[in-house]
This record gives sequence, C-alpha cells and structure tokens, in this order.
Amino acid sequence: YKINMDELRLEEELGKGQFGTVQKVFHKPTNVTMAMKEIRLELDEAKLNQILMELDILHKSHSSYIVEFYGAFFIESCVYYCMEYMDAGSLDKLYGAGVPEDVLAKITISIVKGLKFLKDELRIIHRDVKPTNVLVNMQGEIKLCDFGVSGQLIQSLAKTNVGCQSYMAPERINQVEASTYTVQSDVWSLGLSLLELGTGKYPYPTPDKTTGILAQLNAIVEGDPPSLPDDKFSEDCRDFVAQCLNKNPKARPTYGELLDHPFLQKYEEIEVDMKSWVEQAYNERQDSYKKS
Ligand code: ADP
Repeated sequence: YKINMDELRLEEELGKGQFGTVQKVFHKPTNVTMAMKEIRLELDEAKLNQILMELDILHKSHSSYIVEFYGAFFIESCVYYCMEYMDAGSLDKLYGAGVPEDVLAKITISIVKGLKFLKDELRIIHRDVKPTNVLVNMQGEIKLCDFGVSGQLIQSLAKTNVGCQSYMAPERINQVEASTYTVQSDVWSLGLSLLELGTGKYPYPTPDKTTGILAQLNAIVEGDPPSLPDDKFSEDCRDFVAQCLNKNPKARPTYGELLDHPFLQKYEEIEVDMKSWVEQAYNERQDSYKKS
C-alpha cells in the first residue's frame, strides 16, 4: 500500500531536523496519526526511486523497539517518510537533569534490543544512535528511529552532515568513508548516549564562541572516555557504560554480550513504572517550555 500527500491532513509541526521539518499528520483512509519527516535533498528521480525501493524492506519488518514505518513518497526532490507517531517525543527533551538508574536500565534494554534487531533481522547498522533518535510514547515504550536503512539515503545525507554534538566513535573521526562504519561504532554512540541520559549533559565540550568543533573531536580522539559518577550509579551500570566507551572498537561488547551484562540482567527481572516516568518527564518538559 502506498501513501500519498492527498491522503494526509497536516496537524502540527513536531520538530525541525537538519534536512526539513517533522509534522504530525492524520492519514484519512486508515484513521492513523503519523509523523511525517521531510528530507530536503537535491536528488534526481532515479536516486529518489532507489531510496523508496530500499525503504521498502521496512514494510516486512516489525519490532516493538523500532518506530514503525508506514510508507514514503517524494514530491519534487523531497522525500517524505511516514512513521509511527510517538506522542512523548524524543529522549533528549525528556531526560532533564538525568534519569535514575532503573529508568536508564529499561531505556538501555530497549535500545540494545532495537539495535540487535536491526543487525540480525535487517543486516543494518544504525549509524546515528543519539538521544534525539530515541522516541518515547505515553505508554512508556522506547523505540529507535532514523536508522540507516537506505544506502542511497545514507550517501546523499552524508555529503551535508554537520552537527554540534558528535556521537561519532573515535575511530570514525579519523576516517570519513561511510563504508567503513561498523557495528562497534554504534556501541560507542550507545555508551555516550547513556552517559548523557544519566548525567543530563553531553560530556564533551560543545562548540561556542571560544571553542570550535575541533576541540570536541580532539577530546573524543585524544582524551580518556567519560564515565558515569559513582555516587548515583551502581558499579554494574558504570561498568556497562565503560565497556561501550572503550576507545578500542574491537574491545567493545556485542549486543548479545550487552544483554548478558549483569546491569541489564538485573533490570530484566525488575518492573519499572516507565509510564509514570514518561508522564512526569513530559510534564516537566512542558513546564520548562512555558518558562522559556
Ligand atoms: P534530527 O534531524 O535532529 O535527527 P529529526 O528530523 O529526526 O531530528 O526530528 C526532529 C524532531 O521531531 C525530533 O527531535 C522529535 O522531537 C520529533 N520527531 C521525530 N520523529 C517523530 C515521531 N515519529 N513522533 C513524534 N515526534 C517525532
């Protein structure tokens, strides 16, 4: 089944990405609310068709840890990607001053299972693991989005990719070829994202008037990896993050090993009220929006 723009009613803007806006839309034929991501690219029809074809495998793959794909189409040279609407938004706007260990553990379990699903079932590596790409809904579910499913889209986006917080692993900073990306680099990005979620802060210097992006990249490549503070997090939790943030990519654990780690094993057994956490975090986020 193919979705097109005529079937959609635009509701509101959910956010702005690097390549266009994300909008809440209502799909009239199915009565489903969706999020539609616009990706503005100057591409020819052949490339656009290739992207749509490559996205097609998503129709056959479903996981509770991956944001559902509903369909994509293009208008002129823009790609429109329709996906499951996640009503609590992305984790970067919810973590506040840092999430407690039990919530961090449940988030980690979802992300690792999502990444393992992408790798085992779709043979893809995510390439862009960061709190903005982890979405949440009011039921307390945590799902991954923005994974590198289309080779053509990865190539087209790579040419213009800039950002002021790098989740890139040290080994990737020295080599620019997208083709050399390995699953171990996603494990680094996972570790860095967990550290940010736990502390409420991206750990490296972010570019401002005095320091450029090079200071940040240099700290990632040359400095010791950051770690979680020992006053708020257990030894198992800190060890989990430290293993992901090993500067040697070959020494980082696999997803299977991460799922077997005592940190996740412990919390697999424990119920955490994620729904209440999301509700509270979402309301606090709303409040801080009103203040600013
Ligand atoms: P970026 O380019 O920075 O990765 P995106 O374009 O992916 O950002 O998304 C911009 C914002 O739109 C996100 O921060 C998120 O809050 C919102 N958003 C993206 N996808 C969805 C979705 N499926 N449901 C709800 N909100 C979304």
